[in-house]
Amino acid sequence: MDSNIVQDPAEARYWFDSHCHLDPITCQDVAQFAKENSVLGMVVVGTDAQSSRSVIEVANRVSHSVPGVVALSSIGVHPHEAADPQKGDLALLETVVATRPKGLVGLGECGLDYYYEFSPRLVQIESFAKQIEIAKKYDLTLVIHTRDAWDDAFSVLDEAGWPDRVVFHCFVGGIAEARRVLDKGSYISISGIVTFKNSAEVKEVAAFVPTERILIETDSPYLTPVPHRGKPNTPGYVSFVGNEVAKLRNCDTSHLQRAIWENTLRAFNA
Ligand SMILES: [Zn+2]
Repeated sequence: MDSNIVQDPAEARYWFDSHCHLDPITCQDVAQFAKENSVLGMVVVGTDAQSSRSVIEVANRVSHSVPGVVALSSIGVHPHEAADPQKGDLALLETVVATRPKGLVGLGECGLDYYYEFSPRLVQIESFAKQIEIAKKYDLTLVIHTRDAWDDAFSVLDEAGWPDRVVFHCFVGGIAEARRVLDKGSYISISGIVTFKNSAEVKEVAAFVPTERILIETDSPYLTPVPHRGKPNTPGYVSFVGNEVAKLRNCDTSHLQRAIWENTLRAFNA
């Protein structure tokens, strides 16, 4: 990985957004706004096979055109798209991964979503299992989306075998699920949900995760944190997530920034 990605941790006083979706047209402005808000790291995430190449290009363009901002990428097939012949095409996804593109550090988001269940459960399970295999084959960090499907998600992971590095993005489980994830050495990423009033469980988890395993994210353009709810989300808003997490953990912001910066690089082997 490029040496410019790894900053001296003692110097790091910036936020790292571990999960965002960027529009190719606005990505440079979005990254500039992030920089103005002390967000110097981001992982740009794909949700379908067809857009994989574009996601990697967007991340690289941000890194090149906005000095000081590091954008990494992760590509995969979201459970919503698992049944779509084109968007869910895992052979195409692997073709892109196999070229080992610059900046690509993750496989996903992939996983199970039984809340919306836009794809049949069995199709989701099959797609998830295959993506775990791809992550392991190419030594990429697995980025997991799971909603209302904890037991099946753990079963699929146990059966396929856990990759070395796993991130549970936009964590919406409770302490029991957090313990199961942490026992496997995985990372937990807290989203803007932690700033919402009715998010007691997520707040509890944000305070509970050990310092070396916590990440934060915007999942932009979704899940805009308070006080900007109603507007589209953007990586520049990840500070609202971080500040809330620091408050819940009763720690100072710069301490949390440093930990999150190091954790994110470690989680993505960057
Ligand atoms: Zn996402």
